[in-house]
Amino acid sequence: MRILLIEDDQSLADGIATALRREGYALDHAPSGKQGMALARAAQPDLIVLDLGLPDVDGLSVLKSLRGYQIKTPVLILTARDDLPSKVQGLDAGADDYLTKPFAVDELLARLRALERRVGSAGSAEVVIGKVAINLATHSVSYAGDPVRLSRREFSLLRALAERPGHILSREQLEDKLYSWGESVASNTVDVHIHNLRKKISPEIIQTIRGVGYKLGSPQ
Ligand code: CA
Repeated sequence: MRILLIEDDQSLADGIATALRREGYALDHAPSGKQGMALARAAQPDLIVLDLGLPDVDGLSVLKSLRGYQIKTPVLILTARDDLPSKVQGLDAGADDYLTKPFAVDELLARLRALERRVGSAGSAEVVIGKVAINLATHSVSYAGDPVRLSRREFSLLRALAERPGHILSREQLEDKLYSWGESVASNTVDVHIHNLRKKISPEIIQTIRGVGYKLGSPQ
């Protein structure tokens, strides 16, 4: 899951970035409206967190222009306390949720998970494939009822495949889901995560489609 954060307050952005990366999200940060619009189009995030008070182009205009470009990525707006007109305008302009500053990071994470569930697998928090159950809300995985411990990135990779069962994702698409722009990625990183997932869950959990990519298997 790849998130774009458009926020000019550097210390707030750093705090959010640390929390999101700890949860296994890939995060791109834009400190201005213009950079945010460019990254929203280039990085193809799964979710956007957008501050309305930006120094160059205000957040509301950023949102309107994204929707104008037919970018339908869910957007959670961050607004100043008690700024009711901004919230209403933001929701009217196509935002999916809002959070009033100051907020607890845990609430931001919960709201992002709720948006994620809406984007992924038809609103269901749990994806079941054969004996494997993947809970997208609690980030837990079990095989034949036994819990499986995964690293954050292993879970992110599994989630990327579980969100669209039957779809094939290329190695580059998987890297995009796991790592931010500018983060250095060793060329075999995805293979290592897939190797670990097969070892920890089942060799059939991920199928290799030669020359194309990977898809979720159906381990029995
Ligand atoms: Ca701001």
